[in-house]
Amino acid sequence: MCVGGVAETFWSLPFGGKSTFLVRATQDLPARGCPTSGLRRVQAFRRSGSPTRSCGGFPVAVAAAATSQVQPRAQWTTGLKMAQHENLSVVLYEKNDLRLEKRPILEPGPNEVLLKMHSVGICGSDVHFWQNGRIGDFILRKPMVLGHEASGTVFKVGSGVQHLKPGDRVAIEPGVPREDDEHCRTGRYNLSPSIFFSATPPDDGQLCQYNLHNANFCYKLPESVSFEEGALIEPLSVAIHTCRRGGVTIGSKVFILGAGTIGLVNLLVCKAMGAAQVLICDLSLNRLKKAKQMGANFTIAVDKNTSAKELSQKVKEALGGTMPDISIECTGAELCIQAGIHATKSGGVIVMVGLGKPFANIPMLEVGIREIDIRGVFRYCNTWPVAIDMLASKSIDVKSLVTHRFPLEEALKAFETTKEGVGIKVMLKCDSSDQNP
Ligand code: NAD
Ligand code: ZN
Repeated sequence: MCVGGVAETFWSLPFGGKSTFLVRATQDLPARGCPTSGLRRVQAFRRSGSPTRSCGGFPVAVAAAATSQVQPRAQWTTGLKMAQHENLSVVLYEKNDLRLEKRPILEPGPNEVLLKMHSVGICGSDVHFWQNGRIGDFILRKPMVLGHEASGTVFKVGSGVQHLKPGDRVAIEPGVPREDDEHCRTGRYNLSPSIFFSATPPDDGQLCQYNLHNANFCYKLPESVSFEEGALIEPLSVAIHTCRRGGVTIGSKVFILGAGTIGLVNLLVCKAMGAAQVLICDLSLNRLKKAKQMGANFTIAVDKNTSAKELSQKVKEALGGTMPDISIECTGAELCIQAGIHATKSGGVIVMVGLGKPFANIPMLEVGIREIDIRGVFRYCNTWPVAIDMLASKSIDVKSLVTHRFPLEEALKAFETTKEGVGIKVMLKCDSSDQNP
């Protein structure tokens, strides 16, 4: 390795109004005449993650070491231009330790694009990683950039990229298969166990100003589709995949449990797919109000004393004595799983989107006797092109899901807001020169 020197910088970043902290970063400077060594080193970090080392008890972000000073030869000509960009990134170090720090801007590989990020929505899973440091077996073992609901503009393309050019506005699919396994060959690449997925450990996400992504998983947005709509394609994709898995079609009667972002996008997709009647339940009256505004035929308020049987009975009453063909569980709550099974018509389907406890008590006998199909959902596959067409043709309107916007610099405030559950979707605006939707 050819390292020219080491510089130490202290960045003082006010974060979310809560505290101001110092980040001490060690910067490797490239040796004169050997500009590529730094890049190789940075890329090695990028691929294998961002190792940290301890320095007097204070974590030192080694990966933050490389700055725009570390550029490959091809980049030298634009080095000055690039140096103006800082690449502020929202990095989760460990449970409850979220930081805003500068990260290197990397060169795209042959099939990658460098994106200037515009809008990134905060997902419940980002908050969950922040609060718990893990989701199931996905455990944060090293600092990770959060965010996987994103859109931006192509800033630079890799040598092999044909279908995109600088300036193109794109929506980003965060799951990129790493190998051509049986799941990829059958089109269900979301099930590939080695898939890269933004902001799922160990893979970095997109809450930053500049980000590299596989060009084949960046989809051009037409002028009529805003950046925020582009970012919302990620949760919308969960709903498209769910409704496909559940077989929602013209005339379906659907019971959705949970009116958070995922329940609401399912409501929109059910309606767009021709469902005749959609019922939705939640604990929150505000969310039910939103659901009504977004087209729900019936809303059912659940309280702590409502039993699963009572909830299913209310569904039947609302449907004039009939039962839904399909239930879509979007809470992860055991009671809702049970209620969804009780409520579903014999021979119907319940789609399990909510991710709660690893084990749940469910009325298994009833599932057997009434032939209810229980179907899992894991993210999505083959949804971005459909979602873009639906948005462009105005078959679906997701814009009202966005209730809060924060500049990237106020990321912690945005995370606190999401955690409190006020509103629906919180958007972070990564481009300081354009904070529009
Ligand atoms: P959210 O927290 O915004 O919404 C959940 C809603 O469920 C809330 O409005 C809450 O009030 C309601 N709720 C909770 N307990 C309830 C109960 N007992 N009765 C009625 N309502 C209840 O979350 P979200 O972002 O909308 O995500 C919903 C679920 O989907 C989460 O469990 C999330 O992890 C999961 N998810 C799964 C996938 C997947 O690929 N399977 C993808 C995205 C999200
Ligand atoms: Zn998500």
